Amino acid sequence: MSLTDIQTRIAQAARVAGRDADSIRLIAVSKEQPETRVRPVLEQGHRLFGENRVQEAAAKWPAWRAQFDNVELHLLGPLQTNKARQVMGLFQAIHSLDRPKLARTLARLAQEIGTCPQLFVQVNTGAEPQKAGILPDDADAFIADARAMDLPVTGLMCIPPVDEDPVAHFMMLAQIAERNGLQDLSMGMSADFTTAIACGATHVRVGSAIFGARD
Ligand SMILES: *Cc1c(COP(=O)(O)O)cnc(C)c1O
Repeated sequence: MSLTDIQTRIAQAARVAGRDADSIRLIAVSKEQPETRVRPVLEQGHRLFGENRVQEAAAKWPAWRAQFDNVELHLLGPLQTNKARQVMGLFQAIHSLDRPKLARTLARLAQEIGTCPQLFVQVNTGAEPQKAGILPDDADAFIADARAMDLPVTGLMCIPPVDEDPVAHFMMLAQIAERNGLQDLSMGMSADFTTAIACGATHVRVGSAIFGARD
């Protein structure tokens, strides 16, 4: 696959769902990918990328940003509170707001700095013990608390259990967003982004289908 193949598949999935393809943003997940794979995607004009780790992104992206304008970087992986300050200047969005302590830390930093990345609350739709995220039953209260702290929460994110049909999880995420008046749905990866689009995804996070398998 390639960037243009994925863009074509997104446009097709949007058409089938009766949606405008412009309502779906493609996050090219560049984590662990070598420069020889990422550079061609930048040269094709793509500007929205996702990374999982703060350290890795901080090591790679300043040099690429010096060569390519208007790069938008989204953090997809877990965020430790002691890395939160570093994230504020590096990323334009965080998809992993997953606990009250992180919300409080981000709120304090946002007040101090005067700006904050766009935030997605990660919901553990499968209630998997090993997985990060707010439990579905706690989502409404958590979203209300984050809003009360003036955090710019615009959407929700989920990573469905690997062995399950993702549809029920995508639908659950869409329902939680709807009843909380949130517009953005970060869901769908290489294996299931067309399904996610059918369920209303506004941000699909596609890595290996664009860049190839990670070693
Ligand atoms: C790695 C990762 C992706 C991309 O996964 P692929 O299967 O390579 O498309 C998407 N979202 C998150 C949170 C990830 O960690």
